[in-house]
Amino acid sequence: MLIVASLFFSAQALALPEESRTPGGVALIPLQGIDADRLPNAWYKSHRVMVVPTEDTRFAGTAKWLAVVGIPLKADSGEPQLMVANGKEFPFQIEGKEYKAQYLTVKNKKHVDPDPEQVARWRKESVEMASAFKNWQEPNKMVTNFILPADGPFSSPFGLKRFFNKKPRNPHSGLDIAAPLGAPIIAAADGVVSAVGDYFFNGKTVILDHGHGLTTMYCHMSDIDVKLGDQLKQGELLGKIGKTGRVTGPHLHWGVSLNNTRVDPLLFIEEKKP
Ligand SMILES: [Zn+2]
Repeated sequence: MLIVASLFFSAQALALPEESRTPGGVALIPLQGIDADRLPNAWYKSHRVMVVPTEDTRFAGTAKWLAVVGIPLKADSGEPQLMVANGKEFPFQIEGKEYKAQYLTVKNKKHVDPDPEQVARWRKESVEMASAFKNWQEPNKMVTNFILPADGPFSSPFGLKRFFNKKPRNPHSGLDIAAPLGAPIIAAADGVVSAVGDYFFNGKTVILDHGHGLTTMYCHMSDIDVKLGDQLKQGELLGKIGKTGRVTGPHLHWGVSLNNTRVDPLLFIEEKKP
C-alpha cells in the first residue's frame, strides 16, 4: 500500500502552509482514527477539503492523514468549527484576528457604484470565477506551497478592511504586489489555467488550479500570456503587471483559495520578505 501511496503522491517532503487558526488562515488537522489507504473525503462548510499524507511532514506519526483547511475571513471566532472526514467529526476552534482598515478614494465612480448593467456583468463574471474556485482535481503532484509570483513591495496586505470613497466594501481577499507596468508575473506553483478573463473589478485575470481545491488568482494584468487549459510549471511566465479593472496604480493582486475560501497567500510562502 505504501508503494501505491508513493506512486500517487510525490515522494518529496511536503512543505506545508504555516498554520493560523484565524479568519483568513489555515488549520492543519491530523485525521486521527482514519487509517484508510485511499485519500479521505473531507468537508468543511460544504466544501471539499485538501487532505495530504503525513508521512513526509512534521505530523508523521500523529496520524496517517492531515487536513489542510482554509478558514473564511467572515468566520466567527466565537463559533465552534466543524470538519468532517470519512463521516467522522473533527471539531476545532479558531481565534479572532484584527485586520487593519484602509480608506481609498477611487476616481472612476462606476467602480464604486456600478450601474445595473455593470452589476449584471459582475455577477456573470463571479459565477465564472466561483466555478474555477470550486473545481476539484487530483493531479499526481501535490502542491502545498508557493513562490512569489511578482517581484516588488507588498502594497496592500491580505484581510485589509476597505472603504472606497468612505463606503465599506469586502475585505481585501488577496495580497497586492506593486511592480512596474509590464513586469513579469509567474506561476506560483505548477498548475492548470482554469479561468482567463477581462473582468469588471479584477481586470485581466488568470486563475491557476493546483489541485485538491487549491487555486491562485492573478489580477489587473496588462497582458495575459496563457490560455485556458494550459499546464504551467512553477516560475513560468503567465502575464505582465498592469492596471486593468478597479485599481489606483499598476500592481498584481494575488489571491489564494483553498476549499473555495480566500486565505492569506503569505501562509504559503516559505521565504517571507521583510
Ligand atoms: Zn488587491
